[in-house]
Amino acid sequence: MTATPLSPESNAILDRLRLLREADAPTHGGRVLSYVYDSGLAELDELAAQAIRIMQPVNGLDPTTFPSVATMEREVVGFARRMLHGDDAVVGSVTSGGTESCLLAVKTARDLWRAEGGVGVPRIVAPVTVHAAFHKAAHYFGLELDLVPVGPDGSVAADDLIGRLSADVALVVVSAPAYPHASLDPIEEIAAAASVAGIPCHVDACIGGWALPWWGGVPRWDFAVEGVTSISADLHKYGYAPKGASVLLHRGLDRHRAQYFATTRWPGYPVVNPTMMGSKSAGSLAAAWAIIERLEEESFAELTASMRRATETLREVVDGIEGLRVVGSPVGPLFAVETDVAAAAARQVDPHHWADAVRQRGWLLQQQPGIVQPNGVRLSKTTHLTITPVTESVLEELGAALRAGADEVRGVPAVAAHDALASLPAGVLAAAGAGGMDSQTAASVLQGLGLGGAGGALPDRMAPVLSLMEALPPEVTERLLIELLARLVEPSA
Ligand SMILES: *Cc1c(COP(=O)(O)O)cnc(C)c1O
Repeated sequence: MTATPLSPESNAILDRLRLLREADAPTHGGRVLSYVYDSGLAELDELAAQAIRIMQPVNGLDPTTFPSVATMEREVVGFARRMLHGDDAVVGSVTSGGTESCLLAVKTARDLWRAEGGVGVPRIVAPVTVHAAFHKAAHYFGLELDLVPVGPDGSVAADDLIGRLSADVALVVVSAPAYPHASLDPIEEIAAAASVAGIPCHVDACIGGWALPWWGGVPRWDFAVEGVTSISADLHKYGYAPKGASVLLHRGLDRHRAQYFATTRWPGYPVVNPTMMGSKSAGSLAAAWAIIERLEEESFAELTASMRRATETLREVVDGIEGLRVVGSPVGPLFAVETDVAAAAARQVDPHHWADAVRQRGWLLQQQPGIVQPNGVRLSKTTHLTITPVTESVLEELGAALRAGADEVRGVPAVAAHDALASLPAGVLAAAGAGGMDSQTAASVLQGLGLGGAGGALPDRMAPVLSLMEALPPEVTERLLIELLARLVEPSA
Protein backbone atom coordinates (compact mmCIF):
# COMPACT_ATOMS: atom_id res chain seq x y z
CA MET A 1 0.00 0.00 0.00
CA THR A 2 1.55 3.31 -1.00
CA ALA A 3 0.56 6.42 0.93
CA THR A 4 -1.34 9.02 -1.08
CA PRO A 5 0.18 12.50 -0.56
CA LEU A 6 -2.15 14.83 1.35
CA SER A 7 -3.43 18.18 0.15
CA PRO A 8 -2.65 21.31 2.20
CA GLU A 9 -6.29 21.28 3.36
CA SER A 10 -5.98 17.76 4.73
CA ASN A 11 -2.64 18.57 6.32
CA ALA A 12 -4.22 21.54 8.07
CA ILE A 13 -6.90 19.26 9.50
CA LEU A 14 -4.27 16.90 10.86
CA ASP A 15 -2.34 19.84 12.29
CA ARG A 16 -5.45 20.87 14.20
CA LEU A 17 -5.82 17.30 15.46
CA ARG A 18 -2.24 17.31 16.70
CA LEU A 19 -2.92 20.57 18.45
CA LEU A 20 -6.03 19.14 20.10
CA ARG A 21 -4.02 16.15 21.28
CA GLU A 22 -1.65 18.44 23.13
CA ALA A 23 -4.34 19.07 25.73
CA ASP A 24 -4.62 15.32 26.44
CA ALA A 25 -2.98 13.46 29.28
CA PRO A 26 0.23 11.75 28.15
CA THR A 27 -0.57 8.25 26.87
CA HIS A 28 3.04 7.15 26.96
CA GLY A 29 5.82 7.30 29.50
CA GLY A 30 4.01 5.99 32.56
CA ARG A 31 2.78 9.29 34.00
CA VAL A 32 -0.88 8.28 33.88
CA LEU A 33 -1.48 5.33 36.20
CA SER A 34 -4.90 4.33 34.82
CA TYR A 35 -6.66 4.22 31.44
CA VAL A 36 -3.54 3.60 29.35
CA TYR A 37 -1.33 0.52 29.14
CA ASP A 38 2.04 1.42 27.71
CA SER A 39 4.17 -1.60 26.82
CA GLY A 40 7.15 0.70 26.41
CA LEU A 41 7.79 -0.92 23.02
CA ALA A 42 7.45 1.76 20.34
CA GLU A 43 7.42 -0.84 17.61
CA LEU A 44 4.17 -2.29 18.93
CA ASP A 45 2.41 1.04 18.43
CA GLU A 46 3.63 1.27 14.87
CA LEU A 47 2.67 -2.35 14.17
CA ALA A 48 -0.84 -1.68 15.51
CA ALA A 49 -1.17 1.53 13.48
CA GLN A 50 -0.24 -0.23 10.27
CA ALA A 51 -2.55 -3.15 10.99
CA ILE A 52 -5.43 -0.71 11.53
CA ARG A 53 -4.55 1.05 8.29
CA ILE A 54 -4.65 -2.20 6.32
CA MET A 55 -8.05 -3.14 7.75
CA GLN A 56 -9.52 0.37 7.64
CA PRO A 57 -12.05 -0.15 4.83
CA VAL A 58 -13.28 -3.56 6.03
CA ASN A 59 -16.62 -4.12 7.74
CA GLY A 60 -16.16 -6.55 10.62
CA LEU A 61 -19.88 -7.29 10.49
CA ASP A 62 -19.56 -10.07 7.96
CA PRO A 63 -16.70 -12.60 8.16
CA THR A 64 -18.09 -14.49 5.16
CA THR A 65 -17.53 -11.46 2.93
CA PHE A 66 -14.29 -10.55 4.74
CA PRO A 67 -12.69 -13.87 5.77
CA SER A 68 -9.63 -12.06 7.14
CA VAL A 69 -11.81 -11.05 10.07
CA ALA A 70 -12.68 -14.67 10.85
CA THR A 71 -9.05 -15.77 10.61
CA MET A 72 -7.79 -13.11 12.99
CA GLU A 73 -10.61 -13.68 15.46
CA ARG A 74 -10.05 -17.46 15.40
CA GLU A 75 -6.36 -16.94 16.12
CA VAL A 76 -6.95 -14.47 18.94
CA VAL A 77 -9.55 -16.74 20.56
CA GLY A 78 -7.18 -19.69 20.13
CA PHE A 79 -4.34 -17.86 21.87
CA ALA A 80 -6.61 -16.71 24.67
CA ARG A 81 -7.98 -20.21 25.15
CA ARG A 82 -4.50 -21.72 25.53
CA MET A 83 -3.43 -18.97 27.88
CA LEU A 84 -6.53 -19.52 30.06
CA HIS A 85 -6.23 -23.34 30.15
CA GLY A 86 -9.33 -23.94 28.07
CA ASP A 87 -9.83 -27.17 26.11
CA ASP A 88 -11.62 -27.64 22.77
CA ALA A 89 -14.94 -26.87 24.42
CA VAL A 90 -13.84 -23.31 25.19
CA VAL A 91 -14.84 -20.91 22.41
CA GLY A 92 -15.63 -17.25 22.22
CA SER A 93 -15.58 -13.89 20.50
CA VAL A 94 -13.57 -10.72 20.26
CA THR A 95 -15.64 -7.75 21.49
CA SER A 96 -15.12 -3.99 21.49
CA GLY A 97 -13.95 -3.85 25.11
CA GLY A 98 -14.40 -5.01 28.67
CA THR A 99 -17.81 -3.50 29.11
CA GLU A 100 -19.14 -5.25 26.03
CA SER A 101 -17.63 -8.56 27.17
CA CYS A 102 -19.30 -8.18 30.58
CA LEU A 103 -22.63 -7.11 29.06
CA LEU A 104 -22.60 -10.12 26.78
CA ALA A 105 -21.67 -12.52 29.59
CA VAL A 106 -24.79 -11.32 31.43
CA LYS A 107 -27.05 -11.37 28.38
CA THR A 108 -25.91 -14.92 27.62
CA ALA A 109 -26.58 -16.07 31.18
CA ARG A 110 -29.98 -14.39 31.26
CA ASP A 111 -31.08 -16.00 28.00
CA LEU A 112 -29.91 -19.44 29.14
CA TRP A 113 -31.66 -18.98 32.50
CA ARG A 114 -34.90 -18.17 30.70
CA ALA A 115 -34.44 -21.05 28.26
CA GLU A 116 -34.17 -23.37 31.25
CA GLY A 117 -37.55 -22.17 32.50
CA GLY A 118 -36.62 -19.21 34.68
CA VAL A 119 -39.40 -16.66 35.04
CA GLY A 120 -39.43 -13.24 36.63
CA VAL A 121 -36.37 -11.13 37.39
CA PRO A 122 -33.15 -13.14 37.61
CA ARG A 123 -30.28 -12.15 39.89
CA ILE A 124 -26.57 -11.65 39.38
CA VAL A 125 -24.66 -12.39 42.59
CA ALA A 126 -21.26 -10.72 42.94
CA PRO A 127 -19.00 -9.06 45.51
CA VAL A 128 -19.42 -5.28 45.97
CA THR A 129 -16.07 -4.86 44.23
CA VAL A 130 -17.39 -6.24 40.92
CA HIS A 131 -16.87 -3.82 38.03
CA ALA A 132 -19.51 -1.19 37.28
CA ALA A 133 -20.04 -2.86 33.90
CA PHE A 134 -22.19 -5.40 35.77
CA HIS A 135 -24.32 -2.60 37.23
CA LYS A 136 -24.77 -1.47 33.67
CA ALA A 137 -25.59 -4.99 32.46
CA ALA A 138 -28.21 -5.45 35.18
CA HIS A 139 -29.72 -2.10 34.21
CA TYR A 140 -29.68 -2.75 30.47
CA PHE A 141 -30.93 -6.32 30.56
CA GLY A 142 -33.39 -6.27 33.44
CA LEU A 143 -31.61 -8.31 36.11
CA GLU A 144 -31.20 -7.59 39.79
CA LEU A 145 -27.63 -7.11 40.96
CA ASP A 146 -27.26 -8.73 44.37
CA LEU A 147 -24.05 -7.33 45.85
CA VAL A 148 -22.25 -9.21 48.60
CA PRO A 149 -20.40 -6.94 51.06
CA VAL A 150 -16.63 -7.28 51.32
CA GLY A 151 -14.27 -6.74 54.23
CA PRO A 152 -12.22 -3.55 54.71
CA ASP A 153 -9.43 -5.19 52.70
CA GLY A 154 -11.75 -5.60 49.70
CA SER A 155 -11.96 -9.38 50.00
CA VAL A 156 -15.20 -11.34 50.00
CA ALA A 157 -15.85 -14.37 52.21
CA ALA A 158 -16.78 -17.24 49.87
CA ASP A 159 -19.52 -18.44 52.22
CA ASP A 160 -21.23 -15.04 52.24
CA LEU A 161 -21.61 -15.27 48.48
CA ILE A 162 -22.40 -18.97 48.34
CA GLY A 163 -25.19 -18.45 50.87
CA ARG A 164 -27.06 -16.36 48.32
CA LEU A 165 -27.19 -18.96 45.56
CA SER A 166 -30.67 -20.12 44.62
CA ALA A 167 -32.80 -20.93 41.58
CA ASP A 168 -33.32 -17.28 40.60
CA VAL A 169 -29.59 -16.66 40.19
CA ALA A 170 -28.70 -16.48 36.49
CA LEU A 171 -25.01 -15.72 37.01
CA VAL A 172 -22.32 -15.52 39.67
CA VAL A 173 -19.54 -13.06 38.89
CA VAL A 174 -16.10 -13.11 40.48
CA SER A 175 -13.03 -11.10 39.48
CA ALA A 176 -9.39 -11.87 38.72
CA PRO A 177 -8.67 -9.43 40.15
CA ALA A 178 -11.36 -6.85 41.00
CA TYR A 179 -10.46 -3.38 39.78
CA PRO A 180 -10.81 -1.24 42.93
CA HIS A 181 -8.27 -2.98 45.21
CA ALA A 182 -6.93 -5.79 42.99
CA SER A 183 -8.49 -8.37 45.28
CA LEU A 184 -8.55 -11.85 43.77
CA ASP A 185 -11.90 -13.39 44.66
CA PRO A 186 -11.98 -16.96 46.08
CA ILE A 187 -12.78 -18.31 42.63
CA GLU A 188 -12.20 -22.03 43.16
CA GLU A 189 -14.52 -22.21 46.16
CA ILE A 190 -17.25 -20.09 44.63
CA ALA A 191 -17.13 -21.73 41.19
CA ALA A 192 -17.37 -25.18 42.80
CA ALA A 193 -20.46 -24.18 44.80
CA ALA A 194 -22.04 -22.52 41.76
CA SER A 195 -21.41 -25.65 39.72
CA VAL A 196 -23.12 -27.83 42.32
CA ALA A 197 -26.08 -25.44 42.29
CA GLY A 198 -26.16 -25.52 38.48
CA ILE A 199 -25.40 -21.81 38.22
CA PRO A 200 -22.90 -20.43 35.69
CA CYS A 201 -19.85 -18.59 37.03
CA HIS A 202 -18.22 -15.75 35.11
CA VAL A 203 -14.67 -14.68 35.92
CA ASP A 204 -14.17 -11.03 35.08
CA ALA A 205 -10.50 -10.98 34.16
CA CYS A 206 -10.85 -7.86 32.06
CA ILE A 207 -7.85 -6.34 33.78
CA GLY A 208 -5.98 -9.44 34.92
CA GLY A 209 -6.62 -11.70 31.96
CA TRP A 210 -3.54 -10.83 29.96
CA ALA A 211 -1.20 -10.44 32.94
CA LEU A 212 -2.05 -13.10 35.56
CA PRO A 213 -1.16 -16.04 33.25
CA TRP A 214 2.49 -14.93 33.58
CA TRP A 215 2.39 -13.32 37.03
CA GLY A 216 3.35 -16.41 39.03
CA GLY A 217 2.05 -17.72 42.34
CA VAL A 218 -1.60 -16.94 41.60
CA PRO A 219 -4.20 -19.45 42.89
CA ARG A 220 -6.10 -21.18 40.08
CA TRP A 221 -8.72 -18.85 38.61
CA ASP A 222 -9.23 -19.63 34.91
CA PHE A 223 -10.75 -22.51 32.90
CA ALA A 224 -8.56 -24.88 34.91
CA VAL A 225 -11.23 -24.35 37.58
CA GLU A 226 -14.07 -26.66 36.73
CA GLY A 227 -17.08 -24.49 37.56
CA VAL A 228 -15.87 -21.46 35.61
CA THR A 229 -18.21 -21.08 32.62
CA SER A 230 -17.02 -17.82 31.03
CA ILE A 231 -14.11 -15.37 31.24
CA SER A 232 -13.66 -11.80 29.99
CA ALA A 233 -10.11 -10.55 29.29
CA ASP A 234 -9.35 -7.17 27.75
CA LEU A 235 -6.91 -6.97 24.88
CA HIS A 236 -6.84 -3.19 25.21
CA LYS A 237 -5.44 -3.42 28.75
CA TYR A 238 -2.58 -5.87 29.29
CA GLY A 239 -2.91 -7.16 25.72
CA TYR A 240 -1.37 -3.72 24.90
CA ALA A 241 -3.78 -3.23 21.98
CA PRO A 242 -5.30 0.14 21.10
CA LYS A 243 -8.74 0.67 22.62
CA GLY A 244 -11.59 -1.37 21.19
CA ALA A 245 -10.70 -5.01 21.88
CA SER A 246 -11.48 -7.66 24.49
CA VAL A 247 -12.23 -11.37 24.46
CA LEU A 248 -15.16 -13.20 25.97
CA LEU A 249 -14.71 -16.96 26.21
CA HIS A 250 -17.34 -19.52 27.15
CA ARG A 251 -17.06 -23.13 28.24
CA GLY A 252 -19.32 -25.00 25.84
CA LEU A 253 -20.34 -24.30 22.28
CA ASP A 254 -23.99 -23.92 23.22
CA ARG A 255 -23.22 -21.30 25.84
CA HIS A 256 -21.31 -19.30 23.24
CA ARG A 257 -24.17 -19.55 20.76
CA ALA A 258 -26.53 -18.04 23.36
CA GLN A 259 -24.41 -14.89 23.14
CA TYR A 260 -25.48 -14.34 19.52
CA PHE A 261 -28.43 -12.46 18.15
CA ALA A 262 -29.89 -13.51 14.81
CA THR A 263 -32.96 -12.47 12.88
CA THR A 264 -34.32 -13.08 9.41
CA ARG A 265 -37.61 -11.34 10.18
CA TRP A 266 -37.09 -8.12 8.33
CA PRO A 267 -36.91 -7.39 4.61
CA GLY A 268 -33.16 -6.75 4.62
CA TYR A 269 -30.08 -8.98 4.87
CA PRO A 270 -30.11 -11.79 7.46
CA VAL A 271 -28.62 -10.46 10.69
CA VAL A 272 -26.27 -12.68 12.72
CA ASN A 273 -24.34 -10.74 15.36
CA PRO A 274 -22.08 -12.33 17.97
CA THR A 275 -21.65 -8.96 19.70
CA MET A 276 -23.70 -5.84 20.34
CA MET A 277 -22.71 -3.87 17.28
CA GLY A 278 -23.72 -4.40 13.70
CA SER A 279 -21.25 -2.86 11.28
CA LYS A 280 -17.96 -2.54 13.05
CA SER A 281 -14.34 -1.70 12.56
CA ALA A 282 -11.98 -4.61 12.02
CA GLY A 283 -9.07 -2.33 12.87
CA SER A 284 -9.00 -2.94 16.60
CA LEU A 285 -9.19 -6.70 16.06
CA ALA A 286 -6.34 -6.48 13.55
CA ALA A 287 -4.21 -4.39 15.91
CA ALA A 288 -4.80 -6.76 18.83
CA TRP A 289 -4.12 -9.77 16.63
CA ALA A 290 -0.87 -8.29 15.29
CA ILE A 291 0.37 -7.49 18.79
CA ILE A 292 -0.33 -11.01 20.05
CA GLU A 293 1.45 -12.48 17.02
CA ARG A 294 4.42 -10.22 17.68
CA LEU A 295 4.68 -10.74 21.43
CA GLU A 296 3.90 -14.42 21.74
CA GLU A 297 3.95 -16.01 25.18
CA GLU A 298 7.58 -15.19 25.78
CA SER A 299 7.33 -11.41 25.48
CA PHE A 300 4.10 -11.34 27.44
CA ALA A 301 6.00 -13.15 30.19
CA GLU A 302 8.86 -10.62 30.07
CA LEU A 303 6.54 -7.60 30.13
CA THR A 304 4.64 -9.13 33.04
CA ALA A 305 7.87 -9.84 34.94
CA SER A 306 8.81 -6.17 34.58
CA MET A 307 5.42 -5.11 35.93
CA ARG A 308 5.78 -7.48 38.83
CA ARG A 309 9.11 -5.97 39.81
CA ALA A 310 7.72 -2.44 39.47
CA THR A 311 4.59 -3.31 41.46
CA GLU A 312 6.62 -4.82 44.30
CA THR A 313 8.88 -1.80 44.44
CA LEU A 314 5.98 0.65 44.46
CA ARG A 315 4.17 -1.30 47.16
CA GLU A 316 7.32 -1.09 49.26
CA VAL A 317 7.50 2.65 48.59
CA VAL A 318 3.90 3.12 49.74
CA ASP A 319 4.35 0.88 52.78
CA GLY A 320 7.34 3.03 53.66
CA ILE A 321 5.30 6.24 53.56
CA GLU A 322 4.06 7.22 57.00
CA GLY A 323 0.28 7.68 57.05
CA LEU A 324 -0.53 5.55 54.00
CA ARG A 325 -0.89 1.84 53.41
CA VAL A 326 -1.71 -0.59 50.60
CA VAL A 327 -5.26 -1.98 50.84
CA GLY A 328 -5.53 -5.74 51.45
CA SER A 329 -3.48 -8.26 49.48
CA PRO A 330 -3.55 -7.15 45.86
CA VAL A 331 -2.83 -9.65 43.07
CA GLY A 332 -1.52 -8.39 39.72
CA PRO A 333 -0.10 -5.10 38.43
CA LEU A 334 -2.45 -2.78 40.32
CA PHE A 335 -3.24 -1.80 43.89
CA ALA A 336 -5.09 0.73 46.00
CA VAL A 337 -3.78 2.95 48.78
CA GLU A 338 -5.67 4.19 51.83
CA THR A 339 -4.98 6.17 54.97
CA ASP A 340 -3.05 4.20 57.55
CA VAL A 341 -5.38 4.63 60.49
CA ALA A 342 -2.77 3.05 62.76
CA ALA A 343 -0.71 6.23 62.41
CA ALA A 344 -1.34 9.15 64.77
CA ALA A 345 -4.02 11.50 63.40
CA ALA A 346 -1.50 14.26 62.79
CA ARG A 347 0.65 11.85 60.74
CA GLN A 348 -2.13 10.39 58.60
CA VAL A 349 -2.38 11.08 54.88
CA ASP A 350 -5.74 11.54 53.16
CA PRO A 351 -5.66 9.62 49.84
CA HIS A 352 -7.58 12.32 47.96
CA HIS A 353 -5.21 15.08 49.10
CA TRP A 354 -2.30 12.79 48.31
CA ALA A 355 -3.46 12.11 44.74
CA ASP A 356 -3.93 15.85 44.22
CA ALA A 357 -0.44 16.59 45.53
CA VAL A 358 1.09 13.85 43.37
CA ARG A 359 -0.80 15.20 40.34
CA GLN A 360 0.77 18.62 40.92
CA ARG A 361 4.06 16.82 40.43
CA GLY A 362 2.96 15.49 37.05
CA TRP A 363 1.69 12.00 37.87
CA LEU A 364 -1.95 11.05 37.46
CA LEU A 365 -3.27 8.66 40.10
CA GLN A 366 -6.93 7.66 40.18
CA GLN A 367 -9.10 8.82 43.08
CA GLN A 368 -11.69 6.29 44.24
CA PRO A 369 -14.44 7.59 46.52
CA GLY A 370 -15.41 5.67 49.66
CA ILE A 371 -18.81 4.02 49.43
CA VAL A 372 -21.41 2.60 51.79
CA GLN A 373 -22.06 -1.11 51.15
CA PRO A 374 -25.57 -2.61 51.20
CA ASN A 375 -24.96 -3.77 54.79
CA GLY A 376 -24.16 -0.21 55.86
CA VAL A 377 -20.44 -0.86 56.29
CA ARG A 378 -18.28 1.81 54.72
CA LEU A 379 -15.41 1.02 52.36
CA SER A 380 -12.65 3.56 52.68
CA LYS A 381 -11.68 6.05 50.00
CA THR A 382 -8.57 5.05 48.13
CA THR A 383 -6.10 5.98 45.43
CA HIS A 384 -5.69 3.53 42.58
CA LEU A 385 -2.43 2.78 40.78
CA THR A 386 -2.27 0.72 37.60
CA ILE A 387 1.27 -0.38 36.77
CA THR A 388 2.37 -1.00 33.19
CA PRO A 389 5.62 -2.30 31.68
CA VAL A 390 6.89 1.23 31.19
CA THR A 391 6.56 1.95 34.93
CA GLU A 392 9.83 0.19 35.69
CA SER A 393 11.74 2.80 33.70
CA VAL A 394 10.35 5.69 35.78
CA LEU A 395 10.31 4.07 39.22
CA GLU A 396 12.68 6.43 40.94
CA GLU A 397 10.96 9.59 39.79
CA LEU A 398 7.53 8.17 40.55
CA GLY A 399 8.59 6.94 43.98
CA ALA A 400 9.99 10.37 44.79
CA ALA A 401 6.72 12.04 43.72
CA LEU A 402 4.68 9.62 45.86
CA ARG A 403 6.81 10.42 48.91
CA ALA A 404 6.94 14.17 48.32
CA GLY A 405 3.18 14.33 47.76
CA ALA A 406 2.57 12.56 51.05
CA ASP A 407 5.01 14.85 52.87
CA GLU A 408 3.10 17.85 51.56
CA VAL A 409 -0.33 16.78 52.81
CA ARG A 410 0.50 14.67 55.89
CA GLY A 411 -1.77 15.74 58.73
CA VAL A 412 -4.04 17.82 56.48
CA PRO A 413 -7.56 16.77 57.46
CA ALA A 414 -9.82 15.29 54.79
CA VAL A 415 -12.38 17.71 53.37
CA ALA A 416 -15.30 17.28 55.77
CA ALA A 417 -18.58 16.10 54.28
CA HIS A 418 -20.56 18.90 55.89
CA ASP A 419 -18.19 21.49 54.44
CA ALA A 420 -18.63 19.90 51.05
CA LEU A 421 -22.40 19.87 51.39
CA ALA A 422 -22.45 23.46 52.62
CA SER A 423 -20.93 24.46 49.29
CA LEU A 424 -24.07 23.23 47.52
CA PRO A 425 -26.58 25.83 46.37
CA ALA A 426 -29.73 25.74 48.54
CA GLY A 427 -32.52 23.42 47.44
CA VAL A 428 -30.43 21.01 45.38
CA LEU A 429 -30.98 18.02 47.60
CA ALA A 430 -34.70 18.72 47.84
CA ALA A 431 -34.94 19.12 44.06
CA ALA A 432 -33.09 15.87 43.48
CA GLY A 433 -35.20 14.03 46.04
CA ALA A 434 -38.37 15.32 44.42
CA GLY A 435 -37.91 13.30 41.27
CA GLY A 436 -34.69 14.38 39.64
CA MET A 437 -33.07 17.52 38.36
CA ASP A 438 -33.53 19.03 34.95
CA SER A 439 -30.40 19.90 33.01
CA GLN A 440 -30.73 23.59 33.81
CA THR A 441 -30.75 22.98 37.56
CA ALA A 442 -27.95 20.46 37.33
CA ALA A 443 -25.85 22.91 35.32
CA SER A 444 -26.35 25.68 37.83
CA VAL A 445 -25.37 23.37 40.70
CA LEU A 446 -22.20 22.46 38.83
CA GLN A 447 -21.46 26.10 38.26
CA GLY A 448 -22.07 26.84 41.94
CA LEU A 449 -19.46 24.20 42.71
CA GLY A 450 -16.99 25.71 40.27
CA LEU A 451 -17.29 22.71 37.95
CA GLY A 452 -18.31 22.41 34.34
CA GLY A 453 -16.45 25.48 33.17
CA ALA A 454 -15.51 26.09 29.57
CA GLY A 455 -13.62 23.23 27.94
CA GLY A 456 -14.45 20.92 30.83
CA ALA A 457 -11.35 21.84 32.81
CA LEU A 458 -11.44 20.29 36.27
CA PRO A 459 -10.16 22.09 39.34
CA ASP A 460 -6.52 21.59 40.37
CA ARG A 461 -7.64 20.01 43.60
CA MET A 462 -10.19 17.24 43.27
CA ALA A 463 -10.35 16.30 46.97
CA PRO A 464 -13.30 18.64 47.67
CA VAL A 465 -15.20 17.21 44.69
CA LEU A 466 -14.54 13.64 45.86
CA SER A 467 -15.75 14.51 49.36
CA LEU A 468 -18.90 15.92 47.90
CA MET A 469 -19.46 12.73 45.93
CA GLU A 470 -19.06 10.72 49.10
CA ALA A 471 -21.53 12.93 50.98
CA LEU A 472 -24.29 13.22 48.37
CA PRO A 473 -26.86 10.53 47.65
CA PRO A 474 -25.58 8.55 44.62
CA GLU A 475 -28.52 9.51 42.42
CA VAL A 476 -27.64 13.19 42.87
CA THR A 477 -23.96 12.68 42.09
CA GLU A 478 -24.82 10.51 39.12
CA ARG A 479 -27.13 13.16 37.69
CA LEU A 480 -24.51 15.87 38.16
CA LEU A 481 -21.83 13.78 36.49
CA ILE A 482 -24.11 13.11 33.54
CA GLU A 483 -24.63 16.84 33.20
CA LEU A 484 -20.91 17.55 33.43
CA LEU A 485 -20.09 15.06 30.68
CA ALA A 486 -23.04 15.93 28.45
CA ARG A 487 -22.16 19.64 28.50
CA LEU A 488 -18.66 18.77 27.29
CA VAL A 489 -19.93 17.71 23.89
CA GLU A 490 -22.69 20.24 23.38
CA PRO A 491 -22.05 22.55 20.44
CA SER A 492 -22.00 26.12 21.68
CA ALA A 493 -24.95 28.29 20.68
C1 LIG B 1 -11.64 -2.27 32.77
C2 LIG B 1 -12.51 -3.30 33.40
C3 LIG B 1 -13.79 -3.58 32.91
C4 LIG B 1 -14.45 -2.75 31.83
O1 LIG B 1 -13.69 -2.65 30.72
P1 LIG B 1 -13.71 -1.47 29.66
O2 LIG B 1 -12.74 -1.98 28.70
O3 LIG B 1 -13.28 -0.22 30.35
O4 LIG B 1 -15.08 -1.35 29.09
C5 LIG B 1 -14.49 -4.61 33.51
N1 LIG B 1 -13.99 -5.29 34.53
C6 LIG B 1 -12.78 -5.02 35.05
C7 LIG B 1 -12.28 -5.83 36.22
C8 LIG B 1 -12.00 -4.01 34.51
O5 LIG B 1 -10.80 -3.72 35.04
